[in-house]
Amino acid sequence: MKHDPDTRPATQVVQAGRRPEWTGGIVNPPVWRASTILYDSVADLRAAAGCDTHHRLFYGRRGTPTQWSLAEALTELEPGAEGTFLYPSGVAAIAAALLATLSPGDELLVPDSAYDPTRGFATGMLARFGIATRFYDPLVGAGIADLIGPATRAIFMESPGSLTFEVQDVPAIVAVARERGLVTLLDNTWATPLLFPAIAHGVDYAILACTKYIVGHSDVMLGSVTAGPGRFAALRDTSFQLGQHVAPDDAWLASRGLRTMAVRLRQHGDSALAIARWLADRPEVAAVLHPALPGCPGHDVFARDFHGPSGLFSFVLNGGDDAARAALIDGLAHFGIGYSWGGYESLALPVDPHRHRTVTRTDRAGPMIRLQIGLEDPADLIADLDRGLARFAAARG
Ligand SMILES: *Cc1c(COP(=O)(O)O)cnc(C)c1O
Repeated sequence: MKHDPDTRPATQVVQAGRRPEWTGGIVNPPVWRASTILYDSVADLRAAAGCDTHHRLFYGRRGTPTQWSLAEALTELEPGAEGTFLYPSGVAAIAAALLATLSPGDELLVPDSAYDPTRGFATGMLARFGIATRFYDPLVGAGIADLIGPATRAIFMESPGSLTFEVQDVPAIVAVARERGLVTLLDNTWATPLLFPAIAHGVDYAILACTKYIVGHSDVMLGSVTAGPGRFAALRDTSFQLGQHVAPDDAWLASRGLRTMAVRLRQHGDSALAIARWLADRPEVAAVLHPALPGCPGHDVFARDFHGPSGLFSFVLNGGDDAARAALIDGLAHFGIGYSWGGYESLALPVDPHRHRTVTRTDRAGPMIRLQIGLEDPADLIADLDRGLARFAAARG
């Protein structure tokens, strides 16, 4: 196959990373398991040790073509990116990107809507190593400039935010960060590079919980960080020092998932939007927080910057308590009750974002539910939710 520089993203997810020297001509890059690598001679061993690219077999911890292929594919999906490092989970990826960026005495800015374990890493380990965190309103936009102090070193973003889906003005924040010499990091798990190419928008580190849409089948934990220009060496050095490594079998499953991600994401997004719109018209529902709907904070930014919707959103019930919410969720036939998302199956989760927020208002009309819309027929999911809302209304009284 010849390289076509104008390839579109949906074609890239099919082709990227499948170098013949890594696949041996097999369509799906095979699993190369390794710890020891054997050398022909002492000279050969020394040449490998002196080579700092991780595209040469050296020792199992530095990976094999199975991991390199996935990392290269993720890099190709982010136009302008320099390289990608893989991690055993999304949280490990977030931790490594922050450790590659920050030193004792620095301050980090984190949106109040960040994934709770991201907050936990900042207020736990980073604080223990003398790095302060200041939480900010995710809708601050260019106003982030007012929060930057002499010790501020980096701005973390997550767009849309976990549980409440505020869409951040990433280009405005990146512009301020560039002017002030700060590093930017974005948790891009919801959109993936297909719906929001983060590096092309000037972000320095684009982070994915590959556990979600890349893997897509709820059977592997994996994370990645893709570095913008000039940022890969720091990330790689930190990750090598931390001993980070991903099992080749997991990387292989993630590569397999990636090949169908464009079609899966389109279906997740279309179904989620249909269900979100249906919910928005229901009297039992006070608000629907899907970035593609006008009622979601930051919807204008979504309409400007994103290539389409994905399949995760929340809705706020009109009144009722925890027990009424549980009556809705417990009787669902087509939604599992569980953490994580991005697999082919639908999930419903009671969420209470006010428990985690410290700087933004959290008062709402009733309890919240987060839905991950899977690949089932959306008509079945709507009928299921219709019965659920009737149970909720009965329990609410
Ligand atoms: C799930 C998730 C993570 C963490 O990924 P894991 O692979 O579960 O560690 C990070 N960010 C967001 C937005 C997530 O939804």
